[in-house]
Amino acid sequence: MECPNCSRKDIGKIGVNQYYCWNCFIELSIEKGRLSLHQVEEDGSLTSLDDLFEDHDLTYRESTS
Ligand SMILES: [Zn+2]
Repeated sequence: MECPNCSRKDIGKIGVNQYYCWNCFIELSIEKGRLSLHQVEEDGSLTSLDDLFEDHDLTYRESTS
């Protein structure tokens, strides 16, 4: 998979259906085939980034390659 925010593939798995982009420091979780993006703030809280993306950007697709 690639990051919807930066389009890079520096994605690390951090849990079940949870991933982390090492390039732009956002957490990605997959819920019901849909990506949910959160920015991790310095104090450890999460800010949703979903409003910044279109639906088609947040549809999770299994990589075919
Ligand atoms: Zn990224």
